[in-house]
Amino acid sequence: MTDGQERLIAEAERRLGPKAVVTGMADIEPWLTDWRGRLHGASPAIIAPASTEEVAEVVRLAAEHRVPLVPQGGNTGMSGGATPPTDGSALLLSMRRMNRIRSVSAENRLAVAEAGVVLEALHHAAETVGMRFPLTLGSRGSCTIGGLASTNAGGTQVLKFGTMRSLVAGVEAVLPDGSIHNGLSGLKKDNRGYSLDQLLIGAEGTIGVITAVALRLVPAVAARAVAWAGVASPTHALDLLRFIQSQTDSLEGFELVREDCLQLVVKHVPGSRSPLRGSHPWHVLVETTTAKAALDVGGQLERLLAEALKAGIIADAALAANEAQADAFWKLRDSISEAERAEGQTLAHDVSVAVADMPKFLVEASEQVERAFPGVTATGFGHLGDGNIHFHVRAGSHAAPDWYEREGGEITRFVDDLVTAAGGSISAEHGIGQLKRGEFARLASPARVHALRAIKQALDPLGIMNPGKLIP
Ligand SMILES: Cc1cc2nc3c(=O)[nH]c(=O)nc-3n(C[C@H](O)[C@H](O)[C@H](O)COP(=O)(O)OP(=O)(O)OC[C@H]3O[C@@H](n4cnc5c(N)ncnc54)[C@H](O)[C@@H]3O)c2cc1C
Repeated sequence: MTDGQERLIAEAERRLGPKAVVTGMADIEPWLTDWRGRLHGASPAIIAPASTEEVAEVVRLAAEHRVPLVPQGGNTGMSGGATPPTDGSALLLSMRRMNRIRSVSAENRLAVAEAGVVLEALHHAAETVGMRFPLTLGSRGSCTIGGLASTNAGGTQVLKFGTMRSLVAGVEAVLPDGSIHNGLSGLKKDNRGYSLDQLLIGAEGTIGVITAVALRLVPAVAARAVAWAGVASPTHALDLLRFIQSQTDSLEGFELVREDCLQLVVKHVPGSRSPLRGSHPWHVLVETTTAKAALDVGGQLERLLAEALKAGIIADAALAANEAQADAFWKLRDSISEAERAEGQTLAHDVSVAVADMPKFLVEASEQVERAFPGVTATGFGHLGDGNIHFHVRAGSHAAPDWYEREGGEITRFVDDLVTAAGGSISAEHGIGQLKRGEFARLASPARVHALRAIKQALDPLGIMNPGKLIP
């Protein structure tokens, strides 16, 4: 432990109380590895403040003693942004004690939640006033509002409601000099220059610590309809998306699944079976919702699918007969990563291109990867309507145990080059963290790199906020 760290820990304990400082290795250990288990860091302590003022105290101490801080919420991030460096130079700043929902208002359609509130808790709080926070994802039982905002998370409802960026009405944060920015007024209109709130969203803890967020709510769902359709190609899937969108405003979820992904789920996830009788090269999961009890979304979706069948857009479809079946359809989609893990080694790429370009990109990129790296299977699934696909490359079962470490880098560079040539992004939802920093540095435009570095330098000249992450 450095002298600076020792002094910061002692001061934090004196000012914030013993609950705010964790130094037992057994308690720290679980928070030193990322969710995927690929990165391992080191840190002599976790500092866990319980209020915005306490966060400001810690940040001021960190600046005074030149000790870097790594903000951490639920530690479910996919790019290693919350994993501390391996040299033990940084302290973890856990936000989990800041877990109060300060207000929920159906009238203002806003909730103000502290950074450590778990997403699921916010969902429940919104329900109590007949509202809903319309962002959900697989990690909802663990991920926090601060982490979601700091990674600008997406999920399965982006199609209708956008990413965190469009659902955040304001941010309260402690800046690297210990000052407090309060943007929680929730004003619909506020044109006082640069938006600090928006700058902090997706910043991965590199220019401040988010302490609370004002979040937009929408009316609760009164009814939903879920269907599974078989299609010949991603182009047909996109045709279906555009057809449904042209007929109704109720579309909320639209997920693309390739046949091989579905078959892996059927093989590895007990109790799962394909919703359709025959096999189809591609599948689509569709969900429509309404806040109006009188609207028959089930009947509407059934009619639209019948028309799509007649027009040759889809080859077959099944409408979930009840909630249990609807959940079973979603489980097939949500289990793909788990099934892939059971099958063998998988290299995951979370990429985006323009929505209209995705069908062509997906088919051509898969062929190119399989040609360049014989034996692998390149596949894609996910949020077609957002132009965001999880482009996964699976090693065959014959692959060496160190396939991921030996070939992963080269395959990822190949995929990232294809994405960049298509005008896309090498990180659609998961941020840069430390895992994608090298590729970001290699492929980002000089203008973007320059601006990011200038902002970081201006706001955090001492480099105490999450060093080694995001900024190339
Ligand atoms: C099963 C599963 C499914 C997922 N599905 C999706 C999905 O569909 N879409 C999607 O976009 N993402 C998805 N994710 C990843 C997603 O990024 C995270 O779940 C979530 O956004 C991170 O929240 P967290 O609290 O765990 O943050 P952490 O992992 O703790 O931190 C993430 C980053 O934010 C920073 N940070 C955390 N809290 C703060 C704060 N208060 N102030 C400043 N910086 C902070 C950290 O330093 C780090 O850089 C999934 C993850 C899992 C495990």
